[in-house]
Amino acid sequence: MGFETLLGNARLKENLRAGVSRGKLSHSYLISGPEGAGKRTLARLLAAAALCKNENKPCLACSACRKVMADTHPDYITVDDPEKKTVSVELIRQARADMYVRPNEGDKKIYCIPRAQDMRPEAQNALLKVMEEPPAYGVFLLLTDNPEKLLPTIRSRCAQLRLEGLSPEIMESALQKAFPNAEAGEIQGAIRRSGGYLGQAKALLQEGAQTDPKTEGFAGSFAKKDQLLLLQTLAPMEKMHREQLIPLLQQWKEILLQALTYRSGVQAQSALAQSIGSARSAKEILTAIRHLDTAQEYAQGNVSVGAICGYLVWALR
Ligand SMILES: [Zn+2]
Repeated sequence: MGFETLLGNARLKENLRAGVSRGKLSHSYLISGPEGAGKRTLARLLAAAALCKNENKPCLACSACRKVMADTHPDYITVDDPEKKTVSVELIRQARADMYVRPNEGDKKIYCIPRAQDMRPEAQNALLKVMEEPPAYGVFLLLTDNPEKLLPTIRSRCAQLRLEGLSPEIMESALQKAFPNAEAGEIQGAIRRSGGYLGQAKALLQEGAQTDPKTEGFAGSFAKKDQLLLLQTLAPMEKMHREQLIPLLQQWKEILLQALTYRSGVQAQSALAQSIGSARSAKEILTAIRHLDTAQEYAQGNVSVGAICGYLVWALR
């Protein structure tokens, strides 16, 4: 059945399966867990279970399930405006008004609030009013990485579903499937740094896969004091646009800052930062950061890209 799509969390899935098969869905759920724990996946599965047309809910095969999983079901509604810092009381009021219009296709209407902790008290109070007397078809899914920020009166009205971290074995097999080309060491590093939350490990591996080859060239040459590699990296950069150069220099600086943190005993955020941190002293890294600052100032001023690359060949030698 569909709940298997969520990895780990065996007991939670067992309880949900039992509830769904008895036709018992709560009106409000509070789904909590850190970034990357699977809150959105679980929300979709619950919504699919509520709207599914088949026996074994959620079947993930019927049109209703498929629409929910693709975020296109008209009765599965996300209450958020990602442009705004908070989830405003207006958004909650809109959802409240919308809730009294009957469902379009299904028997339920499900409202997902993906960052419930960002509702101010005013918005939370508005939500509480609907939660106290929802229409029979209304369901709320509140997602949060910080349940403490919600009013106790809201929490007590919700069935609480807390997502747990995954075992390294489950993480490993999931990551190997998602990143067939990643090296075993990279996968292990991502598992360690993610704390058992798959979404975080995936983000880390994606980030690693997207490292610009020029950044790798810079980091490698700086770690190994490899003058030739530095030249090979910087020479083709003379043809870059100023707009491309500035973020690249920023990326290099960030790696150096990470290398400094690594030197102070914190777990490395990337293999590149670790190699620099193990090979170079804090003083050398700080000097390089200053040179990159200067290069960035040049890039924001009128100095040509060619001259900036020339300066870096000299400064980082
Ligand atoms: Zn279905």
